[in-house]
Amino acid sequence: MRKYILVIIICILFCGCQIKNDMAEIQMFAMDTFIDLKAQGENGEKALLEAEKEINRLEKLFSPTIEQSEIFAINQYAAKQTVTVSKDTFDLIEKAKEYCNITEGAFDITIAPVVKAWGFTEEVKRVPSDEEIQQKLQLVDNNKLHIDKQNSTVYLENENMSIDLGGIAKGYASNKVNEILKKNGVSSAVISLGGNVSVTGKRPDGTKWRIAVQDPMNSEGYVGILNVEDTSVITSGVYQRFFEQNGKKYHHIIDTKTGKPTQNGLLSVTIVCDNGAMADALSTSVMVAGLQKGSELWRKLDNFGMIVITDSNEMYISEDIEDIFEVSDDVEYTIHIIQK
Ligand code: ADP
Ligand code: MG
Repeated sequence: MRKYILVIIICILFCGCQIKNDMAEIQMFAMDTFIDLKAQGENGEKALLEAEKEINRLEKLFSPTIEQSEIFAINQYAAKQTVTVSKDTFDLIEKAKEYCNITEGAFDITIAPVVKAWGFTEEVKRVPSDEEIQQKLQLVDNNKLHIDKQNSTVYLENENMSIDLGGIAKGYASNKVNEILKKNGVSSAVISLGGNVSVTGKRPDGTKWRIAVQDPMNSEGYVGILNVEDTSVITSGVYQRFFEQNGKKYHHIIDTKTGKPTQNGLLSVTIVCDNGAMADALSTSVMVAGLQKGSELWRKLDNFGMIVITDSNEMYISEDIEDIFEVSDDVEYTIHIIQK
């Protein structure tokens, strides 16, 4: 909590739009994360102010804890009544359901009761008993999350079911920000929502954006640099949000089969994809699905690249991004290329 208060204070100090080297910049705290938006050009400042408003608007729709949010309403009215939602909320839930099907349930936003039991959406994090986990797992079922496109309604079939968009909402927000940047004619921008980075065009000097991929074993270090344009680079990792109890670490990405933090040897998954929401959902999904299923998904979908780092010091890079990924010289991981 103290960490978040500090971040909020820093954000307040930096509040407003700054211009540095012809780049407008806004730093803010929303969606439970530190956000940094940078855009170049005449309309950069205007676009970022619009983007800031948009992120705040989306947070008010998607937050599971803000009592006026649409997600809060859906959860509150579980097994009671359908809830009419905005196009944004509907689209995001529809996408989330799609990713649940694509990933054979590895990604499932009805995981919320389990995430809550571990305290990740609460003030205090805790290790729930096995019995409690089993009980909450019974509430996890994507098929009981009903959506009706024509009426734009959402309904949770069973009492105590709930949804949590934490694994996809920031990526969706980055897509919306990109739309705003495009609409304003911004040709060079980089936005970062926690571990979710999205770039527009190239850097002002005409070279590609250089996005560092963090070393999950060393918060100061990075395993390499991705040279990218017009794409999202989104990482999920065991090191991002976790707590310790009796010397054991518990992180926030939950295996939908066990109801516990994933324990499949993966430390981080970075996805490179031009769709931010997809990149976000897939980074969480591959963390849950594991290396083998994640690689199969990569082969099947054929529209994203990935970097997977394991606790046995291995780094797997999908062949489609091999050319744009410069591995750091001092990296101690054994490198493997995932092939088609
Ligand atoms: P972050 O939000 O830190 O960037 P992720 O994108 O990987 O990290 O999302 C993790 C969040 O997604 C968790 O905090 C939780 O809200 C939610 N979540 C956890 N496990 C799953 C899962 N198996 N399927 C869908 N969402 C999940
Ligand atoms: Mg995610």
